[in-house]
Amino acid sequence: MSTNQENNLLALDNLKKNLGGIVRVDDQSLHDASFDGLKVSFSPQAVICPQQATQVGEVLRLANEYRIPVTTKGAGSSLTGGATPIKGGWVLDVSQLNKIEIDADNMNARCGPGAVVGDIQEQSAKLNLFYPPDPSSKKFCTIGGNIACNAGGLRCVKYGVTRDYVLSLSGYLPTGEAVQWGRATRKFATGYNIRDLWIGSEGTLGVVTEAVLRLVGKPVAQKTFLAAFSNDSSALRAPIELARLGIRPSILEFLDKWTVECVQSFTGKEVFSGLSPHPVLLIELDGDPSSIEAESVYLQKWLEESSICYLSADSNEAAEELWEVRRQGSPAMKKLANTKLNEDVVVPLKEQINLVECVHDLRSEFNLKIGVFGHCGDGNLHVNFMYNHEDQDESSRAVEALTRLMRKVHDLGGAISGEHGIGLAKTPFVRMQFNEAEWKTMQAIKKTLDPNEILNPGKIFDIFNPWDQKKINTILPWEHSHDEPKPVET
Ligand SMILES: Cc1cc2nc3c(=O)[nH]c(=O)nc-3n(C[C@H](O)[C@H](O)[C@H](O)COP(=O)(O)OP(=O)(O)OC[C@H]3O[C@@H](n4cnc5c(N)ncnc54)[C@H](O)[C@@H]3O)c2cc1C
Repeated sequence: MSTNQENNLLALDNLKKNLGGIVRVDDQSLHDASFDGLKVSFSPQAVICPQQATQVGEVLRLANEYRIPVTTKGAGSSLTGGATPIKGGWVLDVSQLNKIEIDADNMNARCGPGAVVGDIQEQSAKLNLFYPPDPSSKKFCTIGGNIACNAGGLRCVKYGVTRDYVLSLSGYLPTGEAVQWGRATRKFATGYNIRDLWIGSEGTLGVVTEAVLRLVGKPVAQKTFLAAFSNDSSALRAPIELARLGIRPSILEFLDKWTVECVQSFTGKEVFSGLSPHPVLLIELDGDPSSIEAESVYLQKWLEESSICYLSADSNEAAEELWEVRRQGSPAMKKLANTKLNEDVVVPLKEQINLVECVHDLRSEFNLKIGVFGHCGDGNLHVNFMYNHEDQDESSRAVEALTRLMRKVHDLGGAISGEHGIGLAKTPFVRMQFNEAEWKTMQAIKKTLDPNEILNPGKIFDIFNPWDQKKINTILPWEHSHDEPKPVET
């Protein structure tokens, strides 16, 4: 037995001695913790499911002593492999630390990292409060995962992203020492803002064991519109033109003509009856009924001038029908090939047209199936490259086209990820985003806060080519069909 193996076994013995009841080493637990939404699998040595925050500190203290890699996991819905234990070691599954306490007077929510985002929204709504960040995965993803990735979603165009709602974070350093960054106050200008450094650091700098989130008043009504446009640029002018008109949509989603075509062949239904596929926008207004009515007047005027036709819905049931085209985008694409490279790039608002044109060019030049759709209110578009993994030629064309897209995003002043993070899947492109000084600064931060590389090693900094990996054949809980509407996939 090598010294390394002996060390790992000694560490595991100590872990079991100190925290026995919450340590799992059976095959099923190790398998379940070996992958996330990216579906590439690396087996850990143990899975630990803390019932109290202090146990997280004890796990990290031991891991640091024996130099065991630790990957923190919430729901495992990361699409970039962020929660995949690529270096083995221990998986810290914090999903059972899921308390939610709403403080209505201070308008905040005190949550464990395993609290499911949809549950935080539901419990806030009972007190007429609203936690706005709205990833499509909210029915199963956790607030810890959202904080680690600085998750976005559908309503960010009006309300902002996860970062905009985090007041304070409690947790543990990779050494196992307890810390609290920020306070449960509306303002905080006291010392370095490590809270914001942890947000979006993908579990590489610390483990969150409690978050206090800012809540806002719950909007009482919504009105939804679906509009078809003669071309991409008329649709993609919306974020800028609506802002000039003083209209603040809570949702502003775009689908290109190719994606609409794909959805129509999948569902067998025309999005607009009698109209051939065109680029579309899904727009939602929210607030109190009088402000919605006032905004609707201006929005309808703009739609009459700019779109070919539009539909609107006041009730949830009618809105569901308008949502259908957006919801079916990803399922429709999945039918086209067995592998997807799922990008969530972000560019300045007025560059979106250049990004979409680039996708059209790549589609024809590389003869590939590529859909572009998503949160155009934020300049955050999802580009899905569909290809068959066993077709060598098609796989290389997909990788080459993706590389060209990433360069274009960079040239347009954008970023390779707007909401999913880097994890493993975006590492081939992350270096192009930073100059030498910036990259060294990021490395220095990691080195200072985690000198023994305990937390999530292998993520962000090391190159991993997702297209070279065999994906495991498994259906994740949220991929089963339900009677209720499926989450909108990105
Ligand atoms: C159908 C579908 C739709 C999606 N839609 C969106 C969307 O609209 N917007 C969006 O932003 N994302 C979306 N995602 C991606 C995913 O849901 C988010 O990245 C989410 O934030 C991950 O949360 P999780 O609980 O699953 O975290 P995990 O996948 O378990 O972990 C994600 C990362 O967070 C770290 N982490 C988890 N918990 C902690 C903690 N307590 N402390 C420190 N680090 C931690 C992990 O180490 C990992 O790096 C979608 C995914 C799916 C499958």
